[in-house]
Formats: sequence, C-alpha cells, structure tokens
Amino acid sequence: MEFKNNYDISCDYLSYYGLIQALPITWKTTLRGQNLVKIKESKLVTICNTKKETRATYMDLIDEVCEFPHNQVNKWEEELNNYFPIAQWQNLFQNIYITAKSAKLRYFQFQILHRTLVTNRKLKLWNIKNSELCSFCELETERISHLLYDCLHVKIFWYRVKKYVSEQPGNQFNPYISKEDFLLGFSGDNRLVNLICLVTKQYIYSCPGNFPNFAQYINKLRDIKHSELYIARLGEKYEQLESFWDWLK
Ligand SMILES: [Zn+2]
Repeated sequence: MEFKNNYDISCDYLSYYGLIQALPITWKTTLRGQNLVKIKESKLVTICNTKKETRATYMDLIDEVCEFPHNQVNKWEEELNNYFPIAQWQNLFQNIYITAKSAKLRYFQFQILHRTLVTNRKLKLWNIKNSELCSFCELETERISHLLYDCLHVKIFWYRVKKYVSEQPGNQFNPYISKEDFLLGFSGDNRLVNLICLVTKQYIYSCPGNFPNFAQYINKLRDIKHSELYIARLGEKYEQLESFWDWLK
C-alpha cells in the first residue's frame, strides 16, 4: 500500500518490477539517455485527462512535426488563379479524413493537395517518358488539373457522373461544383460531393491510356460503398453511414 501511495500507481511491487524487467535493454538505454523528448506539463495533463491517450499523443506529435505545405499551396493558388485563406486550406486538409474511411482514398486526396501525383509532365522532366502530353487527348500538357478536370474527355465523363448521382433519389447531391471544389475538395459541410469528386478523380487517374468507362466507374463506386461500410462496421456511426449510402443500389 505504501508503494502504491508513494508512486501513485495502481499495481503492486512485484507486478511493477516484473514489467520493468520485461522491457528490452535498448528501451532502458534510451530512457536513461539524454535525448528523451521533453513533454510539457500542460500536454501531460491533456494526455492524462483523455480516454484515448495514444491518439492524443499522436496528434500532439503531428502538431510538432508537421509543417504547413506553403510551396504546394502557393502553386495551387497560382495555377487556379485564386487565393484561399490558411484556415480554408487547413479545412481542406482535415476534410481528407472526414470524406472517406479508406486509407487509399485519403492518401489520393493527400497526394493531390501536396501535388505529388505523378503526371506525364513530371515523367518527361525525369526523362522517363518522351511526351508530356495528356494520356487521353494527347493535345495538352498533362498537369494534375488537366488530367483530372480540364481534359475534354474527363469533362464529358464528369458531366455524366454528376447527372447520374443527382438523379438518384434519396441524396442531396448538388451538381454545381467548381473546378477548385472538384480538385481541392469542398470546404463546406457536404461529404457526398467530396466523396463523389474524390472517387471520380481516383478512377480517372487509375485509367490513363483507356478512356473513363461509366459502367466500370459505377461498379467502382459500389465497391467503395461496400468497403466504406465494412471499415465502419464496428464503429458507432455505422447506421448513419448506411443511410448516407442508401441512394446507391
Ligand atoms: Zn487531355
């Protein structure tokens, strides 16, 4: 009891030393070293007061390690000839995690915002391809914005997708979506628009060389519905997500 009171821990002496003995020697060396990350007291209080300690610690580390991607953001603003306040950009980055549950979809939008998607323009710069022209029209330079939005073949396909989704009963899909919203995400509270835009962009990107095929796309959308529901099956908001997808049969 004295041991418990002195060290403010809830296990007994034997369990405590049993745990210490079980630690790998490399961990102990690191813990005794001088390079430990110093955690501020206020952060420790936050971590102790939450039920999800690992998540709180992770978010805290992200805040310290992550830098705002100013270069990429500036390039997008230059290319789209539009300026967005930092708060809106932060909202767009956070939207990645609200829009989809699939890590693959999230990572795809992350690549768009960080401008790391590989296009023919980059492949030509790296001397991997002879041509920087678009894989679909072979007329314009293949930049992210051309390949995913400006290309005539993509525009026709996107028009068909918007028409199809907005005609399905039971959803609130608004087909009037700007180029900025399509590429970067919709910063307002409209998850369906963001999700349809994201799935469409990923589908277009995955079929260079072959023109986008509408029937194939709808099958992909159904697959995504099933995988999103599968990922959410154990979560508290499963029923909410099920009714969100109800329009797609
Ligand atoms: Zn094109």
